[in-house]
Amino acid sequence: MAKKDYNIIVIGGGSAGLSSAYIAAAVKAKVALIEKHKMGGDCLNTGCVPSKALIRTAKMLSYMKRHKEFGIRSVAVDFDFAEVMQRVQDVIRKVAPHDSVERYRGLGVDCYEGEARVISPHEVRVNGKTLTAKNIIIASGARAFVPPIPGLEQVEYLTSDNLWDLRELPERLVVAGGGPIGSELAQCFARLGSRVTQVEMLPALISREDQEFSDALRQRFMQEGIDVRTNTTCKKIVVENGRRFMITEAGGKQDRVEFDRILVAVGRKANTTGLGLEDIGVKLGPRGTVEVDAYLRTMAYENIYACGDVAGPYQFTHTAAHQSWYCAVNALFSPIKKFKVDYRVIPWCTFTDPEVARVGINEMEAKAQGIPCQVSRYGIDDLDRAIADAEDHGAVKILTVPGKDEILGVTIMGYHAGDLIAEYVSAMKNGVGLNKVLGTIHIYPTMAEANKYAAGVWKKANAPQALLNFLRKFHAWRR
Ligand SMILES: Cc1cc2nc3c(=O)[nH]c(=O)nc-3n(C[C@H](O)[C@H](O)[C@H](O)COP(=O)(O)OP(=O)(O)OC[C@H]3O[C@@H](n4cnc5c(N)ncnc54)[C@H](O)[C@@H]3O)c2cc1C
Repeated sequence: MAKKDYNIIVIGGGSAGLSSAYIAAAVKAKVALIEKHKMGGDCLNTGCVPSKALIRTAKMLSYMKRHKEFGIRSVAVDFDFAEVMQRVQDVIRKVAPHDSVERYRGLGVDCYEGEARVISPHEVRVNGKTLTAKNIIIASGARAFVPPIPGLEQVEYLTSDNLWDLRELPERLVVAGGGPIGSELAQCFARLGSRVTQVEMLPALISREDQEFSDALRQRFMQEGIDVRTNTTCKKIVVENGRRFMITEAGGKQDRVEFDRILVAVGRKANTTGLGLEDIGVKLGPRGTVEVDAYLRTMAYENIYACGDVAGPYQFTHTAAHQSWYCAVNALFSPIKKFKVDYRVIPWCTFTDPEVARVGINEMEAKAQGIPCQVSRYGIDDLDRAIADAEDHGAVKILTVPGKDEILGVTIMGYHAGDLIAEYVSAMKNGVGLNKVLGTIHIYPTMAEANKYAAGVWKKANAPQALLNFLRKFHAWRR
């Protein structure tokens, strides 16, 4: 049989594709990486990086509003939204070399700029050329899902894909969606000065999290002037004499929300069209993602893999990178050696202010799945550093196996929660229990001490009472 051009052809130069190519090239495989749009994919160009850059400006503005809390008598705030958005582009430009064609070529990857189409299990067409490979990794990502809202087509709606081209701050913004993306952006725009109405069909914002956290976030949003409408459906968009309205329905009652711009942030849809997958029999799952087995192989072909947003079930940059290791290694080394993807310890964070970060299960999931657990909670309002920084809010909530220090899951809501959770991610991944977290020295005064104090709450609740009674008597005898 004729030799193939490549060990692996990777389709998509986003988080999943780039790290697949990186890993394969690092172990000296011959790799082709095909990207049709921009290297870096969503994360760099329309996702994590721009959103976090915008959040930073919004956070600065929120501090300026709170100047008196910091002993500052007055501040003068003057900014131009277009310059803020230009800074976002500057941040993208600064990060871009990490994901660039030049960098990947330097790593030994053959980079193709063009649209890829799989024409057989070992052949991919790009720019009129057919490339052959032993394995193919589909890493084509996802895009904003736009639901069929009647009348939406009449307005130039925004999604996370085109939002970054905006140069005029909308006076009134409606955000459809109360998930992480909708919530992060709703808060940003409110802080930048838009009058924001956030509409969510479900009863809560960031509804995967325990109610105490989604309630606290909602509270904060309302304090900041966001009109949060949960349990509310967007029925249609109407335009009357140039004025735009969202017609909503809540509890059987209709309402009209006037807006200048609408941001649709109700979910993401896997990019599967145009790849030729259906033609060669690769199946899609019920959520429109490419169906894969435990080795991340497509059901139809053992040599075609998928990872990242196009495969799910998670849609994060770090899970895309995590999956990419399995795709690259399994593709290159199976059947000699292959690994089942490990989803046991998956963290994530919603980068609202305060941040809400999680690893493992939460109380709501434990209850739904009938998993017995003990809950320990430490309020960050008690933490010295948080008080000094005027960030004394939120909590660390830990679920453990009853009678043991084994961690089942942790949610942290607070300042830098996304960083704080790393200690528990590492603990869970490495089988470290709360006794060891408690026994670890944490620098004073840091936010990270919250983790230790939360472990202390658990310890106190699990103190050996018989031993303590004995010690009371022992010390009385020694006095
Ligand atoms: C606003 C927003 C904020 C986010 N914030 C975070 C965050 O803070 N943290 C986090 O972990 N995640 C975040 N995410 C999610 C994160 O961006 C995605 O999970 C991640 O980018 C997925 O990477 P991927 O490689 O699977 O897909 P993508 O990044 O979408 O990359 C896929 C690439 O494939 C290319 N492609 C598609 N079809 C073809 C084809 N036929 N031929 C060639 N190329 C093709 C596309 O052009 C694209 O560049 C955010 C997302 C959004 C929208």
